[in-house]
Amino acid sequence: MSALPDFKNRARAALADPVLKVAIDRTTGNAERKRAAAVAAFPEFEAARARGKAIKDHVTAHIDHYLEQFERNATARGAQVHWAADDAEARAIVTRICLAADAKLVTRAKSMLGEEIGLPHALADAGIERVETDLAEHIIQLAGEAPSHIIWPAMHRTREQVAELFKAGHQPPPAAEDPATMVQSARRVLRQKFLSADIGISGANFLVADTGATCTVTNEGNAELTTTPPRIHIVTAGIEKLVPSTAHAFALLRLLVRSATGGEMTQYTTFHAGPRRPGDADGPEEMHIVLVDNGRSRMLANEFREMLRCIRCGACMNHCVVYRQIGGHAYGGTYPGPMGSVLTPVLDGLAASRDLPNACTMNGRCAEVCPVGIPLPTLLRAWRRRSWREGLEPGSLRAGIGIWAQLARRPRLYRLATRIGLPLMRLFGKGGWIARLPLAGGWTAHRDLPRPAARSFMDQYRARQKGRK
Ligand code: SF4
Repeated sequence: MSALPDFKNRARAALADPVLKVAIDRTTGNAERKRAAAVAAFPEFEAARARGKAIKDHVTAHIDHYLEQFERNATARGAQVHWAADDAEARAIVTRICLAADAKLVTRAKSMLGEEIGLPHALADAGIERVETDLAEHIIQLAGEAPSHIIWPAMHRTREQVAELFKAGHQPPPAAEDPATMVQSARRVLRQKFLSADIGISGANFLVADTGATCTVTNEGNAELTTTPPRIHIVTAGIEKLVPSTAHAFALLRLLVRSATGGEMTQYTTFHAGPRRPGDADGPEEMHIVLVDNGRSRMLANEFREMLRCIRCGACMNHCVVYRQIGGHAYGGTYPGPMGSVLTPVLDGLAASRDLPNACTMNGRCAEVCPVGIPLPTLLRAWRRRSWREGLEPGSLRAGIGIWAQLARRPRLYRLATRIGLPLMRLFGKGGWIARLPLAGGWTAHRDLPRPAARSFMDQYRARQKGRK
């Protein structure tokens, strides 16, 4: 559930914001370096990647079997399993549980699926106070924003901006602006909420079919504090999060952590298997698991099936030249970057998000770093093909490509056009670059175009061939 008004305007605004560029570069640059070091120090990375891909493909091919197995085992452990066909149903199930429990305060551990189904708004509409417990999510909740990255939701915010938000949002405000004092302040504010929440809502990194357990990984321990003290724990998870066994979850975890943060393991890895049992020292009295489809089973049957392998590590966005220029909010959907550009049209429809698959340079870096080998550029091309087939491009673009296609099919005409066009283009160039070109303002507004050579490749090639004779 997301709003996608005008991608181009948002991207333009992001490009004009120098602070945003610094904030994004700092985080993604670090992530890129740390990932490269982690992969270099893990000689079995390629083998682990092949295994991760095989695990996810196996689950996708037998998803009905694993879903039933998971439901059986989770129910046997005392959890209540709910099925949601779409975002509206998922929201309705979660709010129904909250209202039935007369919940006033809900803590939430970061879950992109919760954003996908529009849970924050649904809770607000139901009059339930929601508190985000991940530090970065806490920051963006204070700012009234949505996440801009799936691993670092507040990466677009500088330390100075966070200090301002804490000053305004914490009672009493932090005594100083250094990171340690600010973290201490957030800890104080959040601790009260952890202890007084009626319900804790989390996502799941994995759903383990043969034990019925859900698994969350965090570096702050906030998922544990969200899910353990409250009376009720609700898990919302996409059906693609299934793995056959705990061993399979760990195989994917080795890929997830290295690809996301460059670490070897997260600080906290917790498996929740049903509510508190007699004799348990702590834990919720009720555990609900909401299994969400929301377009996923449609993907099983179409060309986007491989996207179901995604383990939400964020590596594709950290290495994406477009994401690093415009940041996550410009994408407008729940999921940004290359994976978001594939997923958003599934969730919001292609007509509303046609610009996203087009905002890609096809440099292939995302596919190179994806730990489960998702061919993102191929999937983006598939959306472009669909968009063309469905006639979603503006008339001017279709006409331009139509003219180019006519020329490309007629070599003589094409050569004639380049012979006339190239010298004309050269007139607009200075020092090897063209800063402004009529009819190509979209390209030259934010970057220069290389000035074409005086003679086309074909002319030079022919001249050489002649010289050889
Ligand atoms: S598409 Fe690949 S790289 Fe991107 S978030 Fe998913 S698993 Fe990570």
